[in-house]
Amino acid sequence: MAKKYEGHAIGIDLGTTYSCVAVWQEAKDRAEIIHNEQGNRTTPSFVAFTDSQRLIGDAAKNQAASNPSNTVFDAKRLIGRKHSDPVIQNDILLWPFKVIAGTNDKPTVVIKYKGEEKHLFAEEISSMILLKMREIAEEYLESPVKNAVITVPAYFNDSQRKATKDAGFIAGLNVMRIINEPTAAALAYGLDKRSNCVGERNIFIFDLGGGTFDVSLLTIMDDVIKVKATAGDTHLGGEDFDNRMVNYFVKEFKRKNRIDISGNSRALRRLRTACEKAKRFLSFVTETTIEVDAISEGVDLCFSLSRGRFEDLNMDLFRKCIDTVDKCLADAKMDKSSVDDIVLVGGSSRIPKVRQLLNEFFKGKDISKGINPDEAVAYGAAIQAALLNEENKISWNLKLMDVTPLSLGTSLKGDLMDVVIPRNTTIPSMEKKVYVTCYDYQSSVGINVYEGERARASDNNLLGLFSLRVPPSLRGSLPIKVSFSIDADGILNVAAAEDTSGNRKDITITNEKGRLSPKEIEGMIKEAEIYKADDMKFKKTVKAKNQLDDYLYNMGKVIDDKFVSSTLSPLDKMKIKAGIGRGKRLLDDSSMQASTSVYEKYLRDLESMFESTVGLTKKGEAEE
Ligand code: ADP
Ligand code: MG
Repeated sequence: MAKKYEGHAIGIDLGTTYSCVAVWQEAKDRAEIIHNEQGNRTTPSFVAFTDSQRLIGDAAKNQAASNPSNTVFDAKRLIGRKHSDPVIQNDILLWPFKVIAGTNDKPTVVIKYKGEEKHLFAEEISSMILLKMREIAEEYLESPVKNAVITVPAYFNDSQRKATKDAGFIAGLNVMRIINEPTAAALAYGLDKRSNCVGERNIFIFDLGGGTFDVSLLTIMDDVIKVKATAGDTHLGGEDFDNRMVNYFVKEFKRKNRIDISGNSRALRRLRTACEKAKRFLSFVTETTIEVDAISEGVDLCFSLSRGRFEDLNMDLFRKCIDTVDKCLADAKMDKSSVDDIVLVGGSSRIPKVRQLLNEFFKGKDISKGINPDEAVAYGAAIQAALLNEENKISWNLKLMDVTPLSLGTSLKGDLMDVVIPRNTTIPSMEKKVYVTCYDYQSSVGINVYEGERARASDNNLLGLFSLRVPPSLRGSLPIKVSFSIDADGILNVAAAEDTSGNRKDITITNEKGRLSPKEIEGMIKEAEIYKADDMKFKKTVKAKNQLDDYLYNMGKVIDDKFVSSTLSPLDKMKIKAGIGRGKRLLDDSSMQASTSVYEKYLRDLESMFESTVGLTKKGEAEE
């Protein structure tokens, strides 16, 4: 079968704290996780802005301590939500960057880039991370990448899914499909294949990541994957374990050295980085050391930490995870013995104690291993991307179908929620309903679209509203046909039509409140191109500066050489030294902000001067 999409198709796990990208490798018949330029297989979901450049990923996270108000993370917590949402209000208190209410109550991050204040929506921040993941893939595949499957948590609602899709679009990606993270993990473990042999399977997905904890109970039956129940904690994950460690070492350091670093944000950030690293180690070794040189007042911080101590510091949090597992099963009215597979997802599920507690809870039942938990979601997304791209080249020909996580409907008279598509309906799906007018001679009908499970419509989440003009008639006499359709990404479109007396009018919700308009998206795509061009320009300048710096260094070494030096006239020596001095000043003078061409020209001038005096060729130096 021919390719449905041009070029490669990648899978992206767009995480709250870390993101991961994978691609299906036909020759190896498996997906491959792609490492970034630092050699890391996951990339921090961080974007930072400075006076001179934009940074994404590791580079952004590494400078967070010195640039807290312009280093943005947790965009996934903001996406598709309103600023007034209590969840956002609580998070704002914890973030070092500024978030204000934009038009339509859309949360807007305020940062400073190149000395100018910029307002960014979560879609834009996420698009920058997606762009980074795309670039990581392009570098590895040595070709442009356009198509991607992006994952979202199972509980993400319509607006969060749409906003994620928009983010992909702004990053220049063709979003082939939005799939649920637990579904992707199930795909990664090939659990769909097994469903063929044994009928219905119950799969428990335990996802303990950096900032969030999600558990989902799925059932797979005839290639349809249903989310039976989800539970979790939006503020429980690896960062909490890091916090516990930081607090502990702040106390230990104070006890040992009588220095209090609790108010020193730079020291705390450095300690946090060291703690995270140690925590990762402790999943493989039983003892490690935490070291931060000259953390405060020139005093080094150095402690050893055992796995046991780390577990003690976090035991209540680990137990909380298990309680949540219990609750999820209770919600689904399922006994733990009915669970067929347990799948670990999220970097923090590597922690041995967490695994042990989970193992005990499920009474020794096997836990799926083999794929790294922090890579399973991207791995599954890459499988889905390959399935959509080239259906019969991949040896598994199964398609898992997701279901809609929330009921969708309209409000009837008296604020009653009327469900059109019930939750857990397999998607894509289309449902039609016929309503009638409720007042005599009304001239228009308002259609309010909601998602949620509450009986009172206004207690649910309003997705959008529109009105349809109708010919006046007695109440109850005019049928209004309403159709709801959800596409394979779980995104809803609603249309209404009235066709008495030959009048017919269809209205589709395309842009409910809070979602970006096509024009806004277009503007953001242009903006994204400007950012990208800026990044390229910056990289070019840095390269030119580095080349000049290397050349100055080598020149200095050559004329310091006794033999070379003895062959030079005092005038030539002076000329070279002056040239080096000027070059160093050019590099050091940050106020000058010289352009790439200035550095390049200076390098060329130096090279010819050096050649004419020392008589060396410039071979091997200024290569592009
Ligand atoms: P997200 O929550 O963004 O999806 P991940 O699933 O990648 O992110 O989880 C990131 C978290 O996993 C971080 O807090 C990180 O410190 C933690 N982590 C990664 N590797 C390990 C490990 N070997 N042991 C313990 N924690 C780990
Ligand atoms: Mg995750």
